[in-house]
Amino acid sequence: MKEILSYTAEQLKEYIEEIGYETYRAGIVFSWLHQKQVTTFDAMSNLPKQLRNTLQQDTYIDTLTTQAVVESKDGTVKYLFKLSDGNLIESVALFYRKKLTVCISSQVGCARNCSFCASAIGGLVRNLTPAEMLLQVYAVAADRHQRVSGVVLMGIGEPLDNFCNVMAFCDIICDENGLNLSQRAITISTSGVADRIEQLAEKNLKYNLSVSLHAANNALRSRLMPINDIYDLNRLMTSCQGYLEKTNRRITFEYAVNQGINDSVKDARDIYRLLKGMNAHINLIPLNDIEGSGVTATTRKVALSFKDKLQALSLNTTVRRTLGDDIDAACGQLRRRVQDETDKERLE
Ligand code: SAH
Repeated sequence: MKEILSYTAEQLKEYIEEIGYETYRAGIVFSWLHQKQVTTFDAMSNLPKQLRNTLQQDTYIDTLTTQAVVESKDGTVKYLFKLSDGNLIESVALFYRKKLTVCISSQVGCARNCSFCASAIGGLVRNLTPAEMLLQVYAVAADRHQRVSGVVLMGIGEPLDNFCNVMAFCDIICDENGLNLSQRAITISTSGVADRIEQLAEKNLKYNLSVSLHAANNALRSRLMPINDIYDLNRLMTSCQGYLEKTNRRITFEYAVNQGINDSVKDARDIYRLLKGMNAHINLIPLNDIEGSGVTATTRKVALSFKDKLQALSLNTTVRRTLGDDIDAACGQLRRRVQDETDKERLE
């Protein structure tokens, strides 16, 4: 059976035509699914009964269930969702000037194995479907009773390792019969999959690109992020330059400040060498600790002091607000905690 929420508007049109109906019906089905977000075909009251029956026999509408909701003192809300096959993923509701941005996962687990990231623990389980990404956004918006203003793909997973599904997800969420978000309201964050950055550039879309840099020399970056052995800084920066030339969109470089590891004056100079003259913005994140992993948190104060070093070199830098650090809001941390607890229960 086909999962119908994952169809882009174009694919849905083709399908509706294939089963013998006029293509305009596709727009109606699409808006039932993505605007009204109904969970049964019976609810699609303005469709012919026969079409509803065919949809019912041929396809299904995926769902997810909420396993845990944890609210931070700063208003950030973290969700643990269970997918229909039982896998767990996380999403976060973030509020910037009261507007809701939803941070979603793109994979169950992650293959990229960054040393400081909780998502890597346990490796990659599988890619999420477009439906499973959409359902995270819809569930958070429904729970908050609020319109979604932005989506960031900064939860569990490497979005560019799930390229086709992520592209379909973005397409659906920007569709006028869907949430109708503008492309500029979507941010894709990557650990640096250079050939996919090039592929994304070719599409010439307006999505924001965020690149997780974390180190500006190859020796250190390879130590923190194994992906650097596949796409080194030279290769990564070539793909970023290409993206800038093609799209004219500023790139954000994420840099988790790890005290004593990547926050020296030399590190600042390495960043300068890499990004000088580029239409780039550096977003410093005080590193979150991951229990039991040997990764210890970096204070905001340390991040601010590294910011001064970068600003002295005239680099465009901000320190990200550490939203929700009291609720394990960094990538994969809540899933990890709940899984650990479930494993413990199983052992007891
Ligand atoms: N795989 C993608 C998106 C998910 S991670 C990527 O790498 O960009 C989203 C951001 O959180 C990335 O910049 C990631 O490096 C960062 N991150 C992961 N673990 C962290 C931690 N313990 N503390 C602070 N930031 C972390």
